[in-house]
Amino acid sequence: MIPSAFEYHRPADVASAVKLLAELGDDARVLAGGHSLIPMMKLRMAELEHLVDLQAVAELKAISVEDGTVSLGAMVTQHDLIDSEELFRAAPILRETALQIADPQVRYMGTIGGNVANGDPGNDMPGLMQCLGATYVLEGPEGRREVAARDFYEAAYMTDRADDEILVQVRFAATTGGYAYEKQKRKIGDYATAAAAVLIEAEGGTVTRASIAMTNVSDTPVWSEAAADALTGTTCDDAALQAAVDAMLADIDPQEDNRGPIEFKRHLAGVILQRAIARAFQRA
Ligand code: FAD
Repeated sequence: MIPSAFEYHRPADVASAVKLLAELGDDARVLAGGHSLIPMMKLRMAELEHLVDLQAVAELKAISVEDGTVSLGAMVTQHDLIDSEELFRAAPILRETALQIADPQVRYMGTIGGNVANGDPGNDMPGLMQCLGATYVLEGPEGRREVAARDFYEAAYMTDRADDEILVQVRFAATTGGYAYEKQKRKIGDYATAAAAVLIEAEGGTVTRASIAMTNVSDTPVWSEAAADALTGTTCDDAALQAAVDAMLADIDPQEDNRGPIEFKRHLAGVILQRAIARAFQRA
């Protein structure tokens, strides 16, 4: 299908993009990699009069790792996340997750900003960012503000971002210890039926710190503090694994759809989480 007619804008900096959004109001939308928005427009599920393309905004393409803090400009692509050795050293879970998104064609275009701002529960980066304890930096007519990824998602496609704000940067602390992103999908290139992001730090075989987040098992990503607490102080034995899974299951709310019925999704979420914990603990 062909999208309805729209006017194309290509600002060269964030300030001009913000100004355009403020002037054009509800009829305008930011365009990043276009790999979520353009399909929606082609299906006529989104009809927009103006697209404000961020491709020419060089300042949004920066990657930096400084003093233990990773900063990603919103227009950093999923391919960039895979390709950067600096990022791999700072937070290897980024590459493991990005490699499980779609296929290379999508990853060359799809951006971190588009993936986390979109609000689609099937996107993989929001759960990962919650697991990492990331902060999103938003810029609007009133200036910049920061929101924790764990507070950003309100419902499917509903986030804390105002229509006239642009997500400009994602920031989080570099990781130490073990990590795993485990994803179950129906076929190569598909969105998750369920996925789990896990970070574990351990000393002498005992978990000292953990973080766990789930993808596509509720209408928002789910950071399960209770599941992480169930692992902390344990040797990740079977009882601890089961306690973590039980805690996670109490936090999620999957719905029946073409990826399966609720009971299947709950079972799958448990299996996926156990695998992710086991791999992360082994690497810790
Ligand atoms: P766009 O499509 O350009 O934008 C998406 C939305 O976010 C729009 O509403 C746009 O206005 C808004 N937006 C974009 N950037 C900003 C910003 N900086 N500030 C504010 N708002 C912004 N994703 C996964 O996570 N996992 C998958 O398995 C997966 N499989 C896919 C398979 C296929 C075949 C396709 C086509 C896509 C798939 N995707 C998947 C989606 C892909 O990763 C998208 O690229 C991503 O979700 C959106 O990023 P984008 O840069 O393309 O954003």
